[in-house]
Amino acid sequence: MAERRLTKFHIGIDLGGTKIEVAALNKTHDVIFRERVETGANKGTEHILNQIFKAYQSATQYIKNAAHSVGVGAPGSISTKSGLLRNSNTTCLNGLPLQKLIEKKLNTKLILENDANCFALAEAIMGAAINYNLVFGVIMGTGCGGGFVINKQLRIGPQLIAGEWGHSIINPMGPKCYCGKQGCVETYISGSGLENDIKKNLKKHITAKDFLNQKSYSQVEKKIIDNFYYYFGLSLSNIINIIDPDVIVLGGGLSQQKELYSYGKQEVYKNIFSDYCMTPIIKNKLGDSAGVIGAALIGAKLVC
Ligand SMILES: [Zn+2]
Repeated sequence: MAERRLTKFHIGIDLGGTKIEVAALNKTHDVIFRERVETGANKGTEHILNQIFKAYQSATQYIKNAAHSVGVGAPGSISTKSGLLRNSNTTCLNGLPLQKLIEKKLNTKLILENDANCFALAEAIMGAAINYNLVFGVIMGTGCGGGFVINKQLRIGPQLIAGEWGHSIINPMGPKCYCGKQGCVETYISGSGLENDIKKNLKKHITAKDFLNQKSYSQVEKKIIDNFYYYFGLSLSNIINIIDPDVIVLGGGLSQQKELYSYGKQEVYKNIFSDYCMTPIIKNKLGDSAGVIGAALIGAKLVC
């Protein structure tokens, strides 16, 4: 109990496929420290755990080893049945007792949460969605994730899959997904999904961002883009029709695309089961740091 009273800092760790970000928040939730290290996912689990430790150590040194909470955001979630990580697109981590491994490595208790949930919570509490009650946060990065926040509280669900919208099937005959299904949202509107579509149709490799930022398009390229916005519309309209959120906030690398908030929004509104639609679809405010801030806020629950 003594440690609970003394806790003044909240450390967040965002475990991404390419980067691990760490941040320390003070008790009024200002970000006082941030650092990034490479994940080196191809070097295996032990290397990833060592990198997490390295990032954590930098933060604890910065706060002079003062009492703190720890929250970790990671792709996927822990199965309540097996205690093992599943659904992570950093696939080498699937099947591992990730929370326990990190706790052992850092020698501390922590809360592990899905990275898109961390993003949604941070934007709902400190970011673009601060004035809304029911927030759906969307990550459109290498993969696609989502998270629901209701009155500043995460909706996690009994199976810990609330908001896992990226693996809703929107075309059963669609492209194969790493999750084993076909035609998931992620196969159409994530960076990797769009890049695969470009590769298939244009036989070349170009990043999703560079492709979307081209000044002009051939007919085939135009078709790829129309397809991208069509599925963006379809996937988000399903969310609005089910839960009618007060706002949808977009994050991840592709959320920088201005057209998502104009043309993309029109595509969403086309499919709403209503005579009008006014759901705001807005850009995140916390940028790349939303995930790590959300992880720190979630970890803070350990001591609240
Ligand atoms: Zn999938």
